[in-house]
Amino acid sequence: MAKIGIIRCEKNEHKCPLTNCLKSLAEGGQGFAVHQGPNTLVGVFTCRCPGDQAVNLGKILKSKGAEVIHWCTCLFAHKEEGRWLAGDGFCQDVDSLIQRVAREAEITCVKGTAHLPQGYQPEVSGQDTAMRES
Ligand code: SF4
Repeated sequence: MAKIGIIRCEKNEHKCPLTNCLKSLAEGGQGFAVHQGPNTLVGVFTCRCPGDQAVNLGKILKSKGAEVIHWCTCLFAHKEEGRWLAGDGFCQDVDSLIQRVAREAEITCVKGTAHLPQGYQPEVSGQDTAMRES
């Protein structure tokens, strides 16, 4: 079982209520398929530009019991003609933010939640103690 936190971007907070993120988490599919499941949602934070609080958000999620943080797919992918394609997401700094949070908050980070672009394998950063062994 994985205890999961989600970080999303402020640019999408008034457009999407995480519908497919939560569906994928509940089903253990898409980005959440890296866990054996069942998954438990610990909480959700909105990251605000330029991401100064990201490490702090990660630390708080960890303090609330999260073992791993998933970063929403819309941070690094976009929808075009009904398909999700890699690139042109809401956050140009998503990779450096993930690396910082994984390192400084000392928590596993997974890049991706729902509707992963075709062929994309979720990138995992940081410790992997919560992955596929719980
Ligand atoms: S990844 Fe999809 S479901 Fe999740 S917040 Fe972004 S647009 Fe919404």
